[in-house]
Amino acid sequence: MEIPFRSVEDSFAGVDRDAFEAVRPAYEPWAIEPGTEKLVIAIQSYLVRTRHHTILIDTCIGCGKTNSFFPDWHRRDDDGWLRRLAAAGVAPEAVDYVMCTHLHSDHCGWNTQQVDGRWVPTFPHARYVMARDEVAPMEAAGKGGYANTTYAESILPVIEAGQAALVATDHALDDEVWLAPTLGHTAGHVAVHLRSNGQEAVLCGDLIHSPVQCRFPDWQYRIDWDAEMGVATRRKFLETAAEAGHPILTAHFPSPSMGRVVAAGEAWRFEFLED
Ligand SMILES: [Zn+2]
Repeated sequence: MEIPFRSVEDSFAGVDRDAFEAVRPAYEPWAIEPGTEKLVIAIQSYLVRTRHHTILIDTCIGCGKTNSFFPDWHRRDDDGWLRRLAAAGVAPEAVDYVMCTHLHSDHCGWNTQQVDGRWVPTFPHARYVMARDEVAPMEAAGKGGYANTTYAESILPVIEAGQAALVATDHALDDEVWLAPTLGHTAGHVAVHLRSNGQEAVLCGDLIHSPVQCRFPDWQYRIDWDAEMGVATRRKFLETAAEAGHPILTAHFPSPSMGRVVAAGEAWRFEFLED
């Protein structure tokens, strides 16, 4: 799905108003909603089929999850995501791996579903690959908090079912799929690298939320765990991605969400893939 989210000022600290005003029209309406200046963001998963495995990367908001942070997502009674996955030819039983770039509520919701009043893994045969450094702070967060709700509903049932693989942030699944630490948004945030037929692509998760941050990488995302680290990670990622020229599969950029990072003056811009 694609929605107008928080405004630029509500999303970022350090916005240079004049510099932003000069380029704002270029981002409207596709990435910034005119009038409200809300970021237009997608919320989505990626389905990856390799020679060996069927892999789901990030699992959206889920159905019926508690969410005190984003009221619009609180107990959403919507199983459309699962039906669209079935329409793509993937039964829950066929998923081999579930990977989460990080464990915010819009990235791990469908990790579990409610059956007879209990949260159970949605994918009964899958290994759920999660960074140990991401899980640990959530586990330690104590009772009652937002993270704790997500932990209790979307993470703990997976661990209790024995389906969690808690890994290092540079874990490699095989020579086609591996993680790279991209910390800042959260304590254990990872990018997921894919290689196929000699080509590489990177899923970047929430190290960047909007194409406008290619132009202004130093804007600090307000809910980053460590916003300064987030800026450093974003800059390094953009620089590397522009040099490599490989496709970037973003979590939240507006549809089609995939493209390439291109150097532009002292910053970068994002060019969508043609298809
Ligand atoms: Zn997100």
